Amino acid sequence: MKLFEISNYLDTRVPLAFQEEYDNCGLLIGNKDEKINSVLICLDCTEEVLDEAIKNKHNLIIAHHPVIFQGIKKITGKNYVEKVIQKAIKYDIAIYAMHTNLDNIYGGVSFQIANKIGLENPQILKPKTNLLSKLSVYCPKPFVDKVKKALFNSGAGRVGEFYDRCSFISKGLGSFRPLGGATPFSGNIGKESLVEEDKVEVIFYSYLKPKILFALEHSHPYEEVAYICTEMDNSSFCGSGVIGDLTKEMRLVKFLAYVKKQMNTAVIRYTNLKDNAKIKRVAVCGGSGSFLLEDALQNDADVFISSDFKYHDFFDSNNEISIFDIGHYESEYFTQQLIFDIVKEKFSKLAVHLTTVCTNPILYY
Ligand SMILES: [Zn+2]
Repeated sequence: MKLFEISNYLDTRVPLAFQEEYDNCGLLIGNKDEKINSVLICLDCTEEVLDEAIKNKHNLIIAHHPVIFQGIKKITGKNYVEKVIQKAIKYDIAIYAMHTNLDNIYGGVSFQIANKIGLENPQILKPKTNLLSKLSVYCPKPFVDKVKKALFNSGAGRVGEFYDRCSFISKGLGSFRPLGGATPFSGNIGKESLVEEDKVEVIFYSYLKPKILFALEHSHPYEEVAYICTEMDNSSFCGSGVIGDLTKEMRLVKFLAYVKKQMNTAVIRYTNLKDNAKIKRVAVCGGSGSFLLEDALQNDADVFISSDFKYHDFFDSNNEISIFDIGHYESEYFTQQLIFDIVKEKFSKLAVHLTTVCTNPILYY
C-alpha cells in the first residue's frame, strides 16, 4: 500500500475542505510514494508516540491534532514539535492529521460522544452555511440520464446523510443559432433553432465544483454547455457539535455519574441547574467547545458537555444549562477509534493500531 492511496482516501472521506481556516489537516510529513506497512493512530503525535512507532515498525501515524500547526522557520529540535519533525524524517515515518475536518463531518468527533452517552436522534448543533452550490444545466432529453449519472458519480445530488442521487428536472424550450466556425450537435449554421430541453438541477458541496464541471463537460453533448452555478447559503450537513436526547430523563447528579463512567473521566467540572431540573436534551462538542454554549442554549439543551471552559464561561450558563467540562483529552479519547474505523472501512487488510501512550499532558491530583 502506497502512502498516496491512504492519504488520497482520507482527504476525500474526511474532506480537507471542511477544516477550519486556521487548521492544518492532511499529510504533514511523508513521501507519497513510500510503501506503508503499518499505521499507528493517536490524538497527539508526541515524541513518545513516535518512539512507539519506531519500536513497532509503524511507518504512518494518523493523529487528530496536527503536530505542525503554525509556520515553522527553523527545525533545531528546541521543542517537541521540532523534535518530532526531525525524528519522523530521520526514521521515514509519515504523519497525517485529521482535525477540524473530522470535527465537522457528519458522524465525526462529537457523534462519538453522542454515541457513548446514548443520545437519540443526534443532529449537528451548529451546521455550517455557505458550503453548498446549485448547478442548473440545460440538456437535450436523450442525454439527461447520462448527464445526471455523471454528476451523481462526481458527488452531486447528495442531500444530508441519508439521501443521494437527488435532482430536479423541468421541461422547456431552448433556442440557439450556431455561427460560422461552430460544429453544432443539432441545427444549422446561421439558422435559429428551437430544441426541447430539460433543466437538470442538483446541489453539491462547492469544493467539488471542478470535479463536477469536468464530469458535465464530458457527459454533455453540446459544444458549448449552458449551465448556471450558484453558491447557496443553506445550512449544510456538516458543522460543529451535536445535539440529541436521552432515552430517559435523569437528575443532574445521576447524569454526572453516568457521563463520568461512559467517558472514563477522572473529574467533571460543572455548573448547577435551576430548580433541580431533569435532564433530557444534551449538547456535546469534542475538544474546546465553549464557543457553542449559545447554540446549546438556543437549542434548549439541558446540559452542554465539552472542555476547556474558562472561569467566566461558567457564569454564562446562567443556571439555565449545566456545563460539563470533562477535559479535552477525555472528550476526544474515543476519536482514535473513529479514525481506526474510517481507515478500516477502506483498507480492511492494512495493519492499524491504536497508540498505547496516554498523551494527556494534564494530571489530576
Ligand atoms: Zn482537540
